Amino acid sequence: MARIKKGDIVEVIAGDDRGARGEVLRVLPKQDRVVVSTVNLVTKHENAQRAGRSQMQGGRIQFEAPIHLSNVMLVCPKCDRAVRVGYTVVDGKRVRVCRNRECGAVID
Ligand SMILES: [Zn+2]
Repeated sequence: MARIKKGDIVEVIAGDDRGARGEVLRVLPKQDRVVVSTVNLVTKHENAQRAGRSQMQGGRIQFEAPIHLSNVMLVCPKCDRAVRVGYTVVDGKRVRVCRNRECGAVID
């Protein structure tokens, strides 16, 4: 099971966006990367004609570039902190738990 899943809120712990939080939009398991809403924004200069999208104006497009999993931590929905994730089994299902000692919430 993945440590981070689509829809999770994560906090960036390294790099230019350190401290920023966002929702996981996409997980790229093979690359160990995630795409996080409003994090690691890059601007692409696109030629509208070449892109073949006449309804678009061309020019600059901002989008989120994937960042490495090691640069993000899950934000626990209960204690609202960037936490390490552990695992436990509930009703035969493997679920994630918050490793914050005062919290320990089951996350899923
Ligand atoms: Zn917690």
